[in-house]
Amino acid sequence: MRPDVLAPLYASALGLTGVGPRALGFLKKALRLPPGVADPRVIDLVWHTPTGVIDRRAEPTVAGAIAGTIATFKVRVLKHRPSPRGNKKAPYKVQCEDDTGRIDLIFFHMERAFIERQLPEGEERYVSGRVDRYGDTAQMVHPDYIVTPESRADLPSLETVYPLTAGLSGKILHKLVRQAVATVPDLPEWQNPTVLDQKGWPPFHDAISALHRPMDPADISSGGPAWQRLAYDELLAGQLALALVRQSAKAQRGRSIVGDGSIRAKLKAALPFTLTGSQVSALAEIEQDMASEYRMLRLLQGDVGSGKTAVALMAMASAVETGAQAALMAPTEVLARQHAETILPLAEKAGLRIGLLTGREKGRPRREVLERLASGEIDILIGTHAVFQPDVHFKDLAFAVIDEQHRFGVHQRLALQSKGGSGGANVLVMTATPIPRTLLMTHYGDLDVSRLTEKPAGRKPIKTTMPAEGRIEDVVDGLRRMLAQGAQIYWVCPLIESSDVSELAAAEERHAWLAQMFGADKVGLLHGAMKSADKDAVMAAFSADHLKVLVSTTVIEVGVNVPNATVMVIEQAERFGLAQLHQLRGRVGRGDRQSYCLLLHAEPLGVTARQRLEMMCSTEDGFLIAEKDLELRGGGELMGARQSGMPEFRVAGVPGFEDLLAVARDDASLALNQDPHLMSPRGQALRTLLYLFECDEAVRLFRAA
Ligand code: ADP
Ligand code: MG
Repeated sequence: MRPDVLAPLYASALGLTGVGPRALGFLKKALRLPPGVADPRVIDLVWHTPTGVIDRRAEPTVAGAIAGTIATFKVRVLKHRPSPRGNKKAPYKVQCEDDTGRIDLIFFHMERAFIERQLPEGEERYVSGRVDRYGDTAQMVHPDYIVTPESRADLPSLETVYPLTAGLSGKILHKLVRQAVATVPDLPEWQNPTVLDQKGWPPFHDAISALHRPMDPADISSGGPAWQRLAYDELLAGQLALALVRQSAKAQRGRSIVGDGSIRAKLKAALPFTLTGSQVSALAEIEQDMASEYRMLRLLQGDVGSGKTAVALMAMASAVETGAQAALMAPTEVLARQHAETILPLAEKAGLRIGLLTGREKGRPRREVLERLASGEIDILIGTHAVFQPDVHFKDLAFAVIDEQHRFGVHQRLALQSKGGSGGANVLVMTATPIPRTLLMTHYGDLDVSRLTEKPAGRKPIKTTMPAEGRIEDVVDGLRRMLAQGAQIYWVCPLIESSDVSELAAAEERHAWLAQMFGADKVGLLHGAMKSADKDAVMAAFSADHLKVLVSTTVIEVGVNVPNATVMVIEQAERFGLAQLHQLRGRVGRGDRQSYCLLLHAEPLGVTARQRLEMMCSTEDGFLIAEKDLELRGGGELMGARQSGMPEFRVAGVPGFEDLLAVARDDASLALNQDPHLMSPRGQALRTLLYLFECDEAVRLFRAA
């Protein structure tokens, strides 16, 4: 159970003064909520990190103030000069002065009574805002702050700036964050005092205050001690959680799963190809993990098209051979259905019973799947996030495969593990992202890795070119010739930052144009806002070769498999991350025919942008591309433009914490070595830390052990 001291932080933000249902809706958009959290809580405001500061520390004399700068003055209010009657456009002026000169405070469209209350004639006030000059007089239009000398403390000398959203002003957000910060309780120190000393890091509570009420601009820099400390807290919590998962997996004598090979033999016979050397050895490693009495947690890394699905299927079959169940989770519905379609014909031949569970299965069909699952009539469940729901019960889940893991969080993986029978399920995570070692550690901790390094035989290299946008008509002519030879084409429309609507509009427009060029019956459109059934229909038509051209937004990014598709056109390719381009390109080159990738781009290209696209044209090696990406842009972009930083993190989610990560990892393992059940005073404090970063599942593992 989460400690009571933390309860106020996990209360709904509705409890804060000034938050009603409307503001809650705005907050939902403004705050980055962790997956699975529907409504903002107080803690989500605490973690709303500022992006900058307004420096109000300059307190010049009126005569010495520099026009155009932010300044704070102590002034005497002399005289109110309301706008002349009937002239709404004229401003309301309040004349003020200090010992060196006069300054006018200017208001437009403000209620007179309000101004009079704020600035009574003859009294002193502190005002802060942008100062300008108007002839000889200094002016301040709509001061940001007007406070009495007694409430001087309400005027922040450094004011934090937060990422905003329509509907929420900075002032309101400030007030809410301030309330949220005030509810942060004093907590026992979980960090090693020597580490704090060495690094010069403040206590947790001070760090939070410094971040939201900085005394120095360095306080809100991600390199400053406050941010560093909080990022380290978060990294430590994450590493501790992963270490706990690991520890409990090792400690729990899971069951040893050794099938008799009967179903795998049938599958092998049914597969239209023989497994590559790397598929065989990855499978051997997985089977060895399953046979051992420890719970398995393994990552299968293989470039797009390397054949991860076949490995997963064989491994799932070995679990089913023992009479247990297996599950395969995909990040999107399209992909889950695609997996089901690929697997179904093979499964039928091998006598495997397959069930499908996505967000779309509702009511009766869903109940039926759940019943069959609970009674063991389903051997392999294929699905999406829907599989994590609490009312999904397996009869005996022994093995779970998570495809394209970086879309799921650690928490979901823990939830899944807990669905397994005695000892929890063995977990295989599959990813096509060539994640470098440091990031691997963050996301998975110390897990075992298998890699598919060979591509299936007979694959031809994909010819990649980078025509300029201006040549789009030539490109279309070329495509027409390829279509005549039976090719199928993906056409990916540009990524438009933070606006799903315009992304959709661009795709629709392109779809209409291409339909004119190639014939309306040949060109399909796929985008994120479509109903699932419509998406499926379009995908099915493309798979069946009825549609020849598939125009889409980036929804096809992950996993889709249509071997007959041999051309990938990407518009405004310069706006995509290299890793994402690589993933997109991996959709073609899956059959034995020559494939092409065309990276359309704007002209002129910047030097780096050109280098990036040239890199894409010169290699298909995912690891090389990932490294180059890192070199050209820094680590943030690695997971694709949409997933920059480490999105699972709240404070450590900005680049630059790689070094701390390794320290946190050692720290976590040391702490657990000394105190495996976290019972010492520091251990107890570390439990609080785990709850603070919502690693509740990890703490629960103590009870399971
Ligand atoms: P990914 O690793 O990207 O998930 P898939 O599992 O979708 O790759 O496999 C890509 C394609 O390669 C599929 O059409 C699959 O049938 C085919 N494939 C997988 N393994 C082999 C193999 N050993 N030989 C030939 N083709 C294979
Ligand atoms: Mg795949």
